[in-house]
Amino acid sequence: MLRVSLSDASTKIVATIGPACDTVERLSELITSGADIFRINSAHGDREQHEAALANIRAASEATDSHVGVLLDLSGPKLRLGQLVTDPFYCEYGSHVSFIRGDETTVANQFTSSYKRLVDELAIGDRVMLADGTVSLVVEQVSADAAVCRVTSAGEIRSRQGINLPGVKLSVSAMRPDDVDNAIWGAKNGIDFISLSFVRTAEDIHSLKNLLISYESQALVVAKIEKPEALEQLEQIVDAADAVMVARGDLGVEIDVAETPVAQKRIIRVCREKMKPVIVATQMLDSMHHSRRPTRAEASDVANAILDGADACMLSGETAIGDYPIDAVATMNRIMVHTEQQLLVEDIHRSGTTNRVHPITSAVTDAATAIAEEITAKLIVIATHSGGTAWVKSKSRSRIPTVGASDNLAALRRMSLMWGIKPLYVPRFEDPERLFAQISRWGQEHGFLASGDRVVFVTGSGVMQKAHNVLVVHTVD
Ligand code: PEP
Repeated sequence: MLRVSLSDASTKIVATIGPACDTVERLSELITSGADIFRINSAHGDREQHEAALANIRAASEATDSHVGVLLDLSGPKLRLGQLVTDPFYCEYGSHVSFIRGDETTVANQFTSSYKRLVDELAIGDRVMLADGTVSLVVEQVSADAAVCRVTSAGEIRSRQGINLPGVKLSVSAMRPDDVDNAIWGAKNGIDFISLSFVRTAEDIHSLKNLLISYESQALVVAKIEKPEALEQLEQIVDAADAVMVARGDLGVEIDVAETPVAQKRIIRVCREKMKPVIVATQMLDSMHHSRRPTRAEASDVANAILDGADACMLSGETAIGDYPIDAVATMNRIMVHTEQQLLVEDIHRSGTTNRVHPITSAVTDAATAIAEEITAKLIVIATHSGGTAWVKSKSRSRIPTVGASDNLAALRRMSLMWGIKPLYVPRFEDPERLFAQISRWGQEHGFLASGDRVVFVTGSGVMQKAHNVLVVHTVD
């Protein structure tokens, strides 16, 4: 049996792994502070480092007796600057710089990029954003070998930083050879979630899913929404994906930053309607890179994401390269716990919106939540092999602590993205009575169940295939 703290936030925390936290000891501290999922960003580090990170995450999960999930983030068609001659290079306002063909440059204001056809696809008038949108250029001349740009917003750039081209539709494919290679590595190594950056169409998601299926991977595919094209096709992309990330870092450069708050709310709303988990990412506690305390605006940002209905919030540089990774996770967890006290039980989504679970499962799970609220049950227990039933419960946003009990380790790790679900390993249960007895004993041993407490159980009777059709209210002896 594992560590389950019912006082942790119900909203899940995704922490990006990096040099600030990549030891087993540090990762264990992050888990005990509230991290549920670790993100390995394939844009940074090489295969050896990713393997070491995964091994350390697995060791930390074991050390803390937890089922943390692992998310592998694929770069997708993210364009990057090549090696700069002068690094960093300051782009002076009004000066000219150019993008040239090939992989090498010897002139400081001539840049190469990771996209071979960039020079062919840029047109006069296109905007080019560098350094997370702090430096902007406009294309003034295009020749066979170069695109010459004028600097319209000055600033410093560095080798391999991202290039954003707001409004420019490139013919670059959804997955580069590196992404395919990384996805196969993820599939072979039991990664739980694989996210694809710069998704433009539902087809991008289908390609990644087909690749993963061909390697018999059960990884859930997360669509990162960061392109205006993705917002145009949002409903189809959400339908195709298993989960979604509001990737505000690039989204806020690809569209006007003033439009991102409303876009975030729309993405969360569509995900809720379609019962897909949604992660809000980037700059959530940005100032905690170098400070033990967040700004008031950052605390509000985390709280508002939860009130909008996000299932998870993500930390990027705060945990990967920041000075206070543990404080960042602990602070996010604290803001979540306080905010969740304000959440009211919402309308429970019915199974009509999803084809993932049997309608009986959905109806019984909804009823269990309503009964648990009515009788102020101490705990809801969902016995689930695949985790699907726990997901239905998660969407109700009921604050009654809920345990997802499963004998399937992959399903338990997937629960790391399910709002309010605490994963708990139990051996295969044929007889529901044994499960009740086991959970009662376990709850009492860990001090969160006492004699007289009510527990609502949702299980299958074994009579019906694929449906959870037993709802039992149990009073602890
Ligand atoms: C983002 O752009 O917000 C994001 C999460 O992606 P990355 O960290 O890969 O830039």
